[in-house]
Amino acid sequence: MIHTKTTEEIELMRESALIVSKTLGMLAKEIKPGCIPLVLDKKAEEFIRDHGAEPGFKGLYDFPNTLCMSPNAQVVHGIPNTKPLNNGDIISIDCGAFKNGFYGDHAYTFQVGEVNTATKRLLDITKRSLYKGIDKFRTGNRVGDIGFAIQKYTERHGYGVVRELVGHGLGKVMHEDPEIPNYGKKGRGKKFKEGMVIAIEPMINQGKKNIKQLADGWTVLTRDNLPSAHFEHDVALINGEPRLLSTFDYVHDALDIETDEEDPFRYPKNSKVHS
Ligand code: MG
Ligand code: MG
Repeated sequence: MIHTKTTEEIELMRESALIVSKTLGMLAKEIKPGCIPLVLDKKAEEFIRDHGAEPGFKGLYDFPNTLCMSPNAQVVHGIPNTKPLNNGDIISIDCGAFKNGFYGDHAYTFQVGEVNTATKRLLDITKRSLYKGIDKFRTGNRVGDIGFAIQKYTERHGYGVVRELVGHGLGKVMHEDPEIPNYGKKGRGKKFKEGMVIAIEPMINQGKKNIKQLADGWTVLTRDNLPSAHFEHDVALINGEPRLLSTFDYVHDALDIETDEEDPFRYPKNSKVHS
């Protein structure tokens, strides 16, 4: 069942989302060769608690940490450890925060030091595909329209779209209906409704789409051991259009990246859900 949200609930969800956005911005400054994932995880937990929220992932389905940290061939759900990151690595950091009864949940894949051109391209295309997907989250469209847009764009670049893991509705529960696959057919699936909030999260592999799981029961990685990228935003459907509750502005500020990619989807002042 899809739980649409009121204007007031979306405001609260934005608060939770922005705590995650700020956490990712804080982490962006810390990610460099030699840094220790588990140390960053502890910093993120402190940061989230200092902002009056609880880490959204810790304890959820018994996940042990605040962040999912997935370097290189790891797709998602990597467990932070004490192995230092190396120059040339990439690392997906997925973070959740819970405040006022609602979850925020989004992810960014960072470069560690100097990354090779092919991997940089994977990050760039995956991030762009996220916005292609967001653009389809409009009244009258359906779940398959988002997946179709992401799949078409990324496969055109020769990449593999992970099938087993998908985006999702978001709210009082981390994973609500509907599932939002990163592949699909135009015009198929559930219809989008005013007041829906979803997490769109392309997980895109440089090589084939196939994945495997480590014996820890969590870590998902590519079967061909080629790199994988993951970007995620929380988006509300307001007045028929996709509006970002999360932002990468804090990450971009920290990394000196100039981009206008979020501009068409900015959260409007005095926004009102028309239900
Ligand atoms: Mg996530
Ligand atoms: Mg998610």
